[in-house]
Amino acid sequence: VRSWPKSAPTSLEELRAGGKPALARLLSAIESYEGHPQLISLLDEALQNPMAHVVALTGPPGVGKSTLTNAMISEYRGADKSVGVIAVDPSSQVTGGSLLGDRTRLSTDPEDQKIFVRSMAARDRLGGLSEHAIAAVILMRAVMDRVIVESVGIGQSEADVALVADSCVLCIQPGSGDSLQFMKAGIMELPDIICVTKADMGDVASRSRADVEGAMSLSARQGDWKVPVLMLSALDSTGLNDLVEACDQHVIALSERGELVQQRGEQVKAWLVDQLKVQFGQHGVAVLQASGVRWEEAVKRPFAFKQETSETFAAFWKSFS
Ligand code: GDP
Repeated sequence: VRSWPKSAPTSLEELRAGGKPALARLLSAIESYEGHPQLISLLDEALQNPMAHVVALTGPPGVGKSTLTNAMISEYRGADKSVGVIAVDPSSQVTGGSLLGDRTRLSTDPEDQKIFVRSMAARDRLGGLSEHAIAAVILMRAVMDRVIVESVGIGQSEADVALVADSCVLCIQPGSGDSLQFMKAGIMELPDIICVTKADMGDVASRSRADVEGAMSLSARQGDWKVPVLMLSALDSTGLNDLVEACDQHVIALSERGELVQQRGEQVKAWLVDQLKVQFGQHGVAVLQASGVRWEEAVKRPFAFKQETSETFAAFWKSFS
């Protein structure tokens, strides 16, 4: 086993004490130390100790996600909350496990110790979250007050952010007919909050909002939470406060019903099963199931579990050769 870099944190306590430099080193280790026992134990520890409320912003390119992310960072910083941002860039895909640098359209104060922005390559053209991006969210969630995951919606990324976000915000471009398209794609069930952007465009924005509300009334979404349809302009800051408020209300509603912990637990299990399927196939997962795997234990330390499973399977195949 390669030795863990001296400057990188070895525990959540060190990560929290180390501020931005420690987080930066650890995020780099996600790519270059994949499978390292130290990284695995830190990821599992971070997973067990969530601090931030994770908000996902999705929507088609050009809808205003980056602009909105910038505006939300300011809102949160104004309330003295620390913010971590993962911007998933669908135009660049993960190649050979390497990630892009910090190419980002976000303009934040580099001196501010309570803002941390990372831009990461997407898993595929549809903007799906890579395994690295998910690990990064888990680490940031353990040290920040708020985490924003910005990714292009429609398709895989919608489903992927639902694996890590507490609240999903779908952004809709005024006058685009997006809502109808989303209805057809069956993704209207995923967002917890919908916002029509660029409210400063006037009537066209109001009409889109009415369309979305109409579409939502037909949606099959279950449960107690009524999905708010907001209208905002990141340009002149109208409605921004309502969005921040709606996100907070959503997570409060989840907590009050005891659903936050439950939702996060289900997310971990769904993510773990997905990972296992990718690595060992449907049959591999069936073998695990048949061997009486205890999921309630596995989800407490999914990263270690995945690694151990990998070693078990490797030993198993070796016994045949
Ligand atoms: P993204 O691709 O979803 O991240 O969208 P961007 O944030 O890059 O915004 C796309 C374009 O919409 C840019 O030209 C922005 O200046 C513009 N834009 C973003 N927010 C607003 C807004 O609230 N009002 C108006 N009028 N334009 C906006």
